[in-house]
Amino acid sequence: MTTLTIIALIISFTNNPFFQDVIKAVEIQKISKKKLLGQIDASTDADFSVITAPYTLKKNMYMNTKAFRAYQEMYGIAAKEGIDLKIVSAFRSFNHQKRIWESKWTGTRKVLGQDLSKKYPNAEKRAKVILMFSSMPGTSRHHWGTDIDIYSVNDKDFLSGKGKVIYEWLQTHANEFGFCQVYTPKPDTRTTGYEEEKWHWSYHPVATEYLEQYQKYINYNDIAGFKGDRVAKQIGAIENYVLGINPSCKKSSN
Ligand SMILES: [Zn+2]
Repeated sequence: MTTLTIIALIISFTNNPFFQDVIKAVEIQKISKKKLLGQIDASTDADFSVITAPYTLKKNMYMNTKAFRAYQEMYGIAAKEGIDLKIVSAFRSFNHQKRIWESKWTGTRKVLGQDLSKKYPNAEKRAKVILMFSSMPGTSRHHWGTDIDIYSVNDKDFLSGKGKVIYEWLQTHANEFGFCQVYTPKPDTRTTGYEEEKWHWSYHPVATEYLEQYQKYINYNDIAGFKGDRVAKQIGAIENYVLGINPSCKKSSN
């Protein structure tokens, strides 16, 4: 047997689907599936911290401890410049996201004044409308505790006054603390996924680890357990939304 034949044999063997499953099985999964999907209790999870005043006015809000430390540093520097970076949303569990999603899916919560269950009997269309504003359970970066919403979740609040000043400060300085804007304007920096969100900032050194593990271990069988889950694959919830982010948020450090 020539060396070339041996190399060819090795390549064909490692490309074999069975062998690839074996490789996956022996690789160490760094973050559990439950954590990647937000199926945890952040109040008892060792990687999470409760967010206290002055960082938020809300109660029982949690985030990843490393992300929280970086955020506290950023908050302190901003505060000295008169900028108040209050967090309005942080960790959200799978069940929390499921409540939001299903209330919109069934029409108990109106979207743009409309009952989507009546306006869009077609499941795929209805899902796409909800996805303009909310993630499907199991696909939100808020499940990881690495991502936070700052000041407001309404775009018009960032067009003038205090919100505009906050956004400009974050654009200039957030990266110095490891934070990036995940949902930048389309199509300049990304072509798929959510609309622009000026309020959503991600601590990318930790979030990148989550995203890498997510890509390895989560598939459409895991995006389940809520109304409308069957369309997740059709609309490409993972490819288009989980991966439809600002490319500069994919780096693991500054
Ligand atoms: Zn957000």
